[in-house]
Amino acid sequence: MTELTSLTIADARDGLTTKRFSASELAEAHLAAMEKARVLNAYVLETPDVARAMACESDRRIAAGKAGPLEGIPVAIKDMFCTKDVRTTACSHILDTFVPAYESTVTAQLWRDGAVLLGKTNNDEFAMGSSNETSFFGPVTSPWRRQGANTPLVPGGSSGGSAAAVAAGICLGATGTDTGGSIRQPAAFAGIVGVKPTYGRCSRWGTIAFASSLDQAGPFARSVRDAAILLRSMAGHDAKDTTSIDQPVPDYEAAIGKSVKGMKIGIPKEYRVGGMAAEIETLWAQGADWLKKAGADIVEVSLPHTRYALPAYYIVAPAEASSNLARYDGVRYGLRENGRDITDMYERTRASGFGAEVRRRIMIGTYVLSAGYYDAYYLRAQKVRTLIKKDFEDCFDKGVNAILTPATPSAAFGIGEKGGADPVEMYLNDVFTVTVNMAGLPGISVPGGLSSEGLPLGLQLIGRPFDEETLFSLGEVIEQAAGRFTPQAWW
Ligand code: GLN
Repeated sequence: MTELTSLTIADARDGLTTKRFSASELAEAHLAAMEKARVLNAYVLETPDVARAMACESDRRIAAGKAGPLEGIPVAIKDMFCTKDVRTTACSHILDTFVPAYESTVTAQLWRDGAVLLGKTNNDEFAMGSSNETSFFGPVTSPWRRQGANTPLVPGGSSGGSAAAVAAGICLGATGTDTGGSIRQPAAFAGIVGVKPTYGRCSRWGTIAFASSLDQAGPFARSVRDAAILLRSMAGHDAKDTTSIDQPVPDYEAAIGKSVKGMKIGIPKEYRVGGMAAEIETLWAQGADWLKKAGADIVEVSLPHTRYALPAYYIVAPAEASSNLARYDGVRYGLRENGRDITDMYERTRASGFGAEVRRRIMIGTYVLSAGYYDAYYLRAQKVRTLIKKDFEDCFDKGVNAILTPATPSAAFGIGEKGGADPVEMYLNDVFTVTVNMAGLPGISVPGGLSSEGLPLGLQLIGRPFDEETLFSLGEVIEQAAGRFTPQAWW
């Protein structure tokens, strides 16, 4: 990383306002770094012309004293967010030529506040995955490597491109979407901060839908403060998304450095899953200790329905996905394969446009929603979801301010190492994150240390609805204690 690409957003903001460097210089430094890092496959589309034009506008606004809160900050956007006139594919063949005529609300708000678009980042196809290996554009390689080895590792998924780009210093911050863990898990694998806000905090308008009752946009950044800065711009009510909530967006950055004294932090005993790696166990205890030293009270709590979360998620998410993805039929969007008649055209288009994991989800989803199975699977999963939500409510009713857990059951694994023979092996990665989406709660993943192999490990904090501020305050305590983690450049 160069001097300009290793800055935090907060530092870059200072440098830009005091005119130590210009937005154009900052953008150029990143464009050059992106070119050098292409082997990571973090970007599926680089947009240097757009970046230069936006940076130039930023410099004009800074000179005129009209800088927005993210003025001149170069960011990467997961390819699940529609960007006007910029190709948006969900990393699927079925959309690989799709150029939206409109901008998603989340990205529109970033541009409103002055951010600069560097490009679109790679993700698992339609955000289905935990390793960024299901992308039509090929896997992302993590900027991290095990000590003394050069096995290519996954960056986590589904927002693997965004996480890798932030960790590798080829953007200052990035967006992700999190349906079952796709922001928090890759943030943990990449040694950075990732936030999944409360359901309804960010508008879903213009974000390609995977599972609508679970999907939520959120930021990736190299510090807790930077994540807070980004979320403030991304969040907010949007009349175009009826599930977005009309509540004022707080100044999240003001929560950084706030005392956490007297806060009650729950440690859910059910998350101590059988066979948990010793180093994950140690990391978790260390995290609790740091919060305790900062004055928080650590209490054991119970979330008794945790063990049903993963099976229930893998019914609800595919069910919603099968319905959402029905729109890709070769008629209105992207790919069309010719057929004998309209049914044949649909079948050929969908068979060639969707990859194996997406087809699997559509089949599971269609099955659990079909007459005769609906009550046994889908309805039952919805009931379990209500119970999971109630577990959390009971905890918060007892005065718990936030819950601390590990973010993932392990550090990053090698490309091709997991899920080949048994997709469920990959699904197990989400064991600590899916409950949060099922309950609609906010969660943050903060780096807590390194594994014995020198790979980042993340801690997750789960908060009360719309209390992202507490997560930022607590996250900052962990960050102060653990430090920050940067991969050694090998690319
Ligand atoms: N890994 C989970 C899945 O495959 C979650 C993905 C996500 O959050 N988008 O469904």
